[in-house]
Amino acid sequence: MEVKNIKAFGTEAAEAPLNQLNINRRKATPHDVEIEILYCGVCHSDLHTARNEWHGTIYPCVPGHEIVGRIVSVGNHVSKFKVGDLAAVGCLVNSCRECDYCKEGLEQYCAPGATQTYNSPDKYLDTQTYGGYSESIVVDESFVLRVPENLDPAATAPLLCAGITTYSPLKHWNVGPGQRVGVVGLGGLGHMAVKIAKAMGAEVIVYTTSPSKVEDAKRLGADDVVLSKDEEQMKRYAGKLHFVLDAVSAQHDINAYLTQLRVDGHLVLVGAPEHPLPVAAFSLIPSRRSFAGSMIGGIPETQEMLDFCGQHNIVSDIERINIQQINEAYERLLKGDVKYRFVIDMASLKK
Ligand code: NAP
Ligand code: ZN
Ligand code: ZN
Repeated sequence: MEVKNIKAFGTEAAEAPLNQLNINRRKATPHDVEIEILYCGVCHSDLHTARNEWHGTIYPCVPGHEIVGRIVSVGNHVSKFKVGDLAAVGCLVNSCRECDYCKEGLEQYCAPGATQTYNSPDKYLDTQTYGGYSESIVVDESFVLRVPENLDPAATAPLLCAGITTYSPLKHWNVGPGQRVGVVGLGGLGHMAVKIAKAMGAEVIVYTTSPSKVEDAKRLGADDVVLSKDEEQMKRYAGKLHFVLDAVSAQHDINAYLTQLRVDGHLVLVGAPEHPLPVAAFSLIPSRRSFAGSMIGGIPETQEMLDFCGQHNIVSDIERINIQQINEAYERLLKGDVKYRFVIDMASLKK
């Protein structure tokens, strides 16, 4: 297969910093589009994967799955896009397209396993897939999304993971007017959850460990904010929430949030810490509570989310960085020190 060698940023080992390296991209086949990457968001999953915290990383690893760019070439069977279009790629670049889940548009749960944008076996080349910390990417048009024209492209990039990962469970569990929703962890995912749950009509309570985020949480739309390290404040909504979305990236006491739920309430975990989180039986049993998980979202729902954000003028609050600042950005991510998503200006890779 014909390939093109391009510049990227990635890492060769769990303990190594990210550095510039070169990777191969296939030349666009008939159903592919080639996208010049303009912006790529920095998800905490990039850090978990680069550092092998989920124990499946294949090196070299080029992270990045919140991609917005410009289409620079199209294969001759491409019908959805043309050269010059703005386009986006999220966490998935392929799937089997035949299993029950793929047929339902739930490609993220593809039975034989979807092809993730990075760190998955590549169906075309004899390597793993490489993500958006790179000059360009080649993707089958079926896995490429349209970007609403009214949204800022850099601030739209984080919708491709942080946006869909929060939209999908909020929608699946029918969050809406009359419901009180808790969002735990005000990071990239958490701040999108606040904006989206508010736009869906819910009352939103933010739980944060960071006193510096209290005012911001309200500006983002939260109706109230609870400092989770303060036991008195944690009593305020105990047993009163319909739904909790937990987007914390590190170890924390899940029971403290399960007990915020009323009878029949659901806590959905989207945060993916490295180690297991103990759940006490009596956090669930006395109020018939449910504890669930949710992973990103399928392609049709990702487009639906982008269109929803276009209609409601929702984008991410971002801090732009150059690719050369990525290692420093990871250290700040670990401290919860980002308001609220780093987005890499990929033009910096050309420098
Ligand atoms: P992030 O921007 O780093 O946000 C995580 C937030 O968690 C922090 O801002 C902080 O919020 C809170 N936090 C961090 N350390 C904590 C600790 N020790 N105790 C309590 N709270 C802590 O990360 P993100 O990109 O939003 O991702 C969040 C998690 O979701 C990651 O584990 C990521 O891998 C996962 N993820 C899952 C999916 C999925 O499909 N399920 C998709 C994308 C990401 P406060 O300062 O407000 O406390
Ligand atoms: Zn992500
Ligand atoms: Zn499938």
